[in-house]
Parts: sequence; structure tokens; C-alpha cells
Amino acid sequence: MSDKITTPGAILIKSMLPTKEARDVHDIYRVLDKKGVHDLILNLLKHGGENSHDTINTLGQTFFSKATEIGASTPLSDYDNDSSERQTMLSEFEHKVKTIINSKKSKEQKDKELIDLADSFQGDFNKANLKYMVGKGSTAAKMALTGARGNPDQLAQATGSPLLSTDVKGNFIPIVIKKSFGEGLSTAEHLAMSYKGRSNTVLTQLSTALPGALFKQLTPNLFHEVVTVQDCKTTNGINFPISEKKSIIGRYEAGTNKYIDEYYYKELSHSKKQVKVRSPMTCEAHEGVCQKCYGLMANGRLPTIGENVGVIASQSVSEVLTQAMLSTKHRAKVGSGGNAYEQASNLLNNPAENFRDEAGIATLDGKVVSVKQTPLKDYEININGVNHFISRIQQPIIKAGDHVKRGDPLSTGTLNPRKLVELKGLGAGRKYLTSKLRDIYGSGLDNRHFELISRNLLKYVEVEHPGDTGFLPGQKIPVAQIEKHLRNDSKLVALSSAEGKMLSQGILEMVPGTILTHNHIDELAKAGISSVKVSSSGLKVNPIVPGLKTAKLLDSNWVSKLSFNKLRDTLKDAAATGAESNIHSTDPITSYVIGNEFGEGENGKY
Ligand SMILES: [Zn+2]
Repeated sequence: MSDKITTPGAILIKSMLPTKEARDVHDIYRVLDKKGVHDLILNLLKHGGENSHDTINTLGQTFFSKATEIGASTPLSDYDNDSSERQTMLSEFEHKVKTIINSKKSKEQKDKELIDLADSFQGDFNKANLKYMVGKGSTAAKMALTGARGNPDQLAQATGSPLLSTDVKGNFIPIVIKKSFGEGLSTAEHLAMSYKGRSNTVLTQLSTALPGALFKQLTPNLFHEVVTVQDCKTTNGINFPISEKKSIIGRYEAGTNKYIDEYYYKELSHSKKQVKVRSPMTCEAHEGVCQKCYGLMANGRLPTIGENVGVIASQSVSEVLTQAMLSTKHRAKVGSGGNAYEQASNLLNNPAENFRDEAGIATLDGKVVSVKQTPLKDYEININGVNHFISRIQQPIIKAGDHVKRGDPLSTGTLNPRKLVELKGLGAGRKYLTSKLRDIYGSGLDNRHFELISRNLLKYVEVEHPGDTGFLPGQKIPVAQIEKHLRNDSKLVALSSAEGKMLSQGILEMVPGTILTHNHIDELAKAGISSVKVSSSGLKVNPIVPGLKTAKLLDSNWVSKLSFNKLRDTLKDAAATGAESNIHSTDPITSYVIGNEFGEGENGKY
């Protein structure tokens, strides 16, 4: 006899899967906990065929109706943890808390020890609680496991114990809460918990408002990024180290245009340290992005023409920030960068003053002469006689004798995009923005979202000398527009003779209009590039680094700008300058105004 056990429910689910492929993948012996449900949906998206999303809806409805049919409910006994292990753990915890509180340490030291103790203890306590409750057959515990209603942490508060409460500032209140919500708190426990309860309620409201506002500012900068054509035919892309499998698989290799699946990835990993893949950041489609530069979506298919990948990017990053805000509500801030929302907001808003957590940046190439600490504990780093100030909240990451390049970070912290772009160009800014956003978010999100955001925040230049391009001095234009002009007198030159010349075509993340420095040339040589296309049009442009609050206002589509703020200024300027707006563009605002062509284009397709 097999020790594998299945249930009628598991067989029912299997019978509901729409394709043989999906049914073959589905394991009826698998417990449908949170990960199980996740994999079930992934299986449907991958193997469920065209209408897999319908099956997901049908499954959901089946789950509801079956729960009603069998009368699934959670009786009070579902919330009663009467194990002796729980009492032992609580006594041990109370003893340790008392030891810390009664010690002769400073208040800061006590707080720190309490945080560490609560953090390490809560995990073990919740695990033991969940195990016991599931073991005793609690339906509430099973629901928490699937994520259908509540989660294991909430269950632990209802059946185990909240352990410690905090005041509105996040400081622990020195009373151990031994009763669970199921049992009912004592008067003292209730009073202690009321502070946390109230501040949680307020913070939940406030904390969803901030990422919501960020979403509203981000979306107008991205919503024109629609998939418009099959292939823009670019040979350009961005490099990833071969170890970053997640960012490589599902895309097309730049140059060869080969699709990179598991097998091809394995082949590449034998011979290459890095792979150049096509990217929405470097796509050269006339409007929006092409299918090949985007690569495959989560469902294993290319995005359809008309798919708005910009809004998907904006939605994805904002959703995660909302979650991050909710889960870090009460933690004392870790590090000086703040939580994920604060870090992302700082980087995207990119304030001209008061940029948070700013890292030191080398303003020139050279040798580090000295690293000194000032009487105020800040740092002064001398490079070739030029002093660089580093705030005391950062740690230097270079030492005397090191060689640094213009634009290199000198300390921990976040590079200010304004300074980085000034020193290394728009391309380097995009590259840094992408990788820093990924640091902030962790590896859970698709890198292409960050690539799209970087390309749209850092895409404007201001014309200083128009040369023979016909632009006006002071005109602010997207990089894509100057590329068209530069192509006219573009010529291919050897990398070795390209210093000081202007790029006419994007290469790696470097954008057209970049004046090549010897650092750029070193970087390109390192990537195995031997020639570049340069222009002699005499054009000179300076990159603009706007923040989320100002980027949209640079858009040349005046109707689209009406989706943002400063409406009166936008209308006045548009009237004064005779501005035009293409009603057949990928921008959804013109479609909205006219009530036509959503995601379709002039002839029914882009
Ligand atoms: Zn493309």
C-alpha cells in the first residue's frame, strides 16, 4: 500500500483542468497550501491553453460552493491551543523579557535586545502553534495555511499569543501578552494591545495612501509603452552576468535573436560569463516596445500586440510597495535608507535637495590620496587633490591608494541619479536606476519592469548647440528623436578612435547623444565591442534628470500631459506654442478623449 493520500477535492480539481498537459502536471497527492495553490495557478497559466484564466475563475467559484455544500466552518475549538508546549514557551519568553527589563542596561540596549528576542522567539512560537493547530484538525489553521483566510501569523495571534505590544512609536510595552485573542485578553493585556491596534488601523490607512500616490505619478510616465510590433530589428541589448538566470531566461539573445530557454541557457552558461539580451530599455521600435525586446510573459507567451506593458510595470512595482508598507509598519527603521517604499520613492522622485541616504561619488578619475575622518565623524576623501565629502551615516568603500573612475561610488548608500548622469551619462543612470530598484525590491519582481521605468524616467535631453539638426537651443526632447537626426551622418569608427565623439546609435545601455569618454570606451571594450557608430552633426545635448513629479511635464504630447497636474499651465503653453498631439499614438489619453482606438492603433492594429 502506498502511503500517499489524496482527497475527492484533489481529483475534482484535476478533472477541471482544461488541457491534458495541465492534468499531467497536476499532482493529486500535493497538499494545497499557499505554495500548492501558487503552483496550481502557474500550471494553469503555463499549460492551460488560451482560456486558462476562465478555469481559474471556475475553480474559485467551485471552492466557494463546495465549502458551502460541506458546511465548512470554524468552531471555537479551532482557536483553542491547549498544548503544554505553548505554556512552556510562554513562561520561557516571559522569563527572558523580565531578565532584560530588570537588567542595568541603557534603554536603547534594552529595546534592541527586546526586538531581537521577540523577532527570534515569535518565529518559533508561531511555527509550533501552527503545527499543533493543524495536528488537532483546526479548519482555521488549514485555511491560514492555504492563505484563503488569514495567514499563519494572524492565526498565531488568535490562538497563540501576540507576545508583546508596541506603542504608537513602535517601542515595546514591557508586558508579556500571554492570552490569545481566542481566549480573551486580561485588562492589562487589552490596554497594552489597544495602542498597537489603534496605531495599526491608522497606519494601514496612511500607508496605502503613499504607494497609491506614487502609482498615480508613475503610471502617466509609462502608459504609452504598448507592444506595437513583432520585431524592431535592433541588435542592441543589455548585458547580464550569466548567474542572473531569472533575468535571462524567457528573453531573446541580442545579435543572434535566439530565444533563450532552459536548454539554450545551459549551453550559454558553459561558454559565457555574461549574455547580451534584448530589453525593453533598448528597444528601437518607433513607438512603444516590440515583442522580441520584451520577451515572453509569465504565461510563457509573447505579449500580444496592443498589450500595455507600461501599466503592467507600474502596477507591479506599486503593488509590492503597498505590501512593503503594510508589513514594515511597526519595525524600527533598518539602516538609513528606510523601508522599501521610502527607498523607492526617494530614488524615483529624485529630489534636487535632501536626497536621502546619499552615497559619495567620485567627480574625477584618479588615485585616492587619503580617507580622513573629520572632528564631526564625517569623512573627507581626497582624490588627486580634490576633496569629496561623505556624510557620517555612510561608510567609505575605498581606501588610500585605490584608483577610482569618475562616477564611481565612494561609500555605502544610494548614488544620486542627478550626479551620476552628469558624470557618466543617461545610459549609466538608467543602468544604475534599474539595478538599484532591483536591490530595493529583491529578486521577486521581473527586471523588465525596472528597465521600462528607467528608460522612461531618464529619456530627455536639452539641446545646447543644435548643429545642423534643426532643433532649437534650449529645446527639451526625448533621446529617441535625436537618434533619427544623428542617423543621417552616422559613421562606423573603431572604438580606439572614438573618444570625444558623439554616439549616434545606442549601444548597450548607452544612449545616442552620449559623448564618449575614455571610461565609456574602456567599458565597451570590456564588453567585447570594437566599433561604434558616431555622428559629426555638431549637435550638443545635456541630459535632463527629472523626478516622478516633473518627468511627465516634459512630454511633448500636450493632451497626454492633461492626465497629470498643472493643467492650466499645460493648456496655456499648448495654446501659445501651437502644440500638437497625435491622436493615433499609443498614448491612451488621446484614445480616452476621442473614445476610440484603445490598444488598437489607426488601422485596428499597431
Ligand atoms: Zn525592440
